[in-house]
Amino acid sequence: MVRLVFLDLDKTLIGDDYDPSPALPIIERLQSIGFKIVFNSSKTLAEQEFYANELQIAPIMVVENGGGIFVPEDDPVSQFVNEREGKYRVLKLGLDYSLIRQEIDPIADEFCLKYYGNSSVEEVVRFTELPIHLARLAAMRHFSETIFSYCSTGFIEILRDRGLTVMKGSRFITVTGRTDKGKAARTVIELHKRLDEVFSVAIGDGENDVPMFDVVDLAIAVGGLDYKKAVAAADVVTAVDFIETNFKRR
Ligand code: MG
Repeated sequence: MVRLVFLDLDKTLIGDDYDPSPALPIIERLQSIGFKIVFNSSKTLAEQEFYANELQIAPIMVVENGGGIFVPEDDPVSQFVNEREGKYRVLKLGLDYSLIRQEIDPIADEFCLKYYGNSSVEEVVRFTELPIHLARLAAMRHFSETIFSYCSTGFIEILRDRGLTVMKGSRFITVTGRTDKGKAARTVIELHKRLDEVFSVAIGDGENDVPMFDVVDLAIAVGGLDYKKAVAAADVVTAVDFIETNFKRR
């Protein structure tokens, strides 16, 4: 049996100060009870690599709200993924960033949209409160755009009519192709089912985590998110307490 845990990053594993160090004991506890870590976040590959390095792990990374799945070459499921990109095998589920920009750019002025593509690094720092080195990594986008601010919400309907997925995350609005964290999580689960039975858990705090809650065996909603299929936990530490209590190997 493979045990998978899908972790949201923003406001779940990583707090408002973007400091990776509080996540270290969380990762260690999950690994000690046999869970394989999978990042499932709206963050970019470059940002997720930063956190993976800081935490000294090499997880499968679902990037940009389900836009793509990056599998390290030495992961057992990489054999089922053909496309190579650098040191990863990659499954592209979403739309290329350039195609998303083709839909957003023409309506940016009308709705006063600010997003990575029309913001300087200094503006990104102001909107996100990211430290500048992380802001640069966040701007390296493959499959999604993030709307920081707007003067009215009519753009959401327009982008959805164009076939794009528009989701509220814990901080901002993310625009992707027809994909989400749930489709990506289901794909990761299916890859592992080719090797073994799977037990899957997901931990998240935002509306964009709901699709992944729907495809796992156990969903844990943190930070006050209310969803009927999810167990509620105050924060990720409490979520891991719950997992330890119920799923420690005997
Ligand atoms: Mg979040």
